[in-house]
Amino acid sequence: MFCYNCGCQINEKDTFCPNCGKNNKLINNIANNTYKSISITGFVFSFLIGIVGLILSLIGYRKSNAENQENYKKLSFAGFLISEITITWQITFISLFLGLYIIANM
Ligand SMILES: [Zn+2]
Repeated sequence: MFCYNCGCQINEKDTFCPNCGKNNKLINNIANNTYKSISITGFVFSFLIGIVGLILSLIGYRKSNAENQENYKKLSFAGFLISEITITWQITFISLFLGLYIIANM
């Protein structure tokens, strides 16, 4: 990709242009927006796979907190709470089915 300021070719991972030293806006926006995708993904996963939702919600919360994004902090916190509930019933069901399976095969 190219620097938005001087147009010289730069590495996609470079935040600052090695030629002119300008902060690359596009790269910076993508980096600063990761809290959104992580918070939303964490929230969605909190209903499906509790442990994944829990981890993503924690990361999303920390990133949203760093960016001062109150709405995404709330979303991550909700994802965190839902993940806990999901983990609890998933463990309960797994133990229940495992117990029934063992009893049925004794
Ligand atoms: Zn440049």
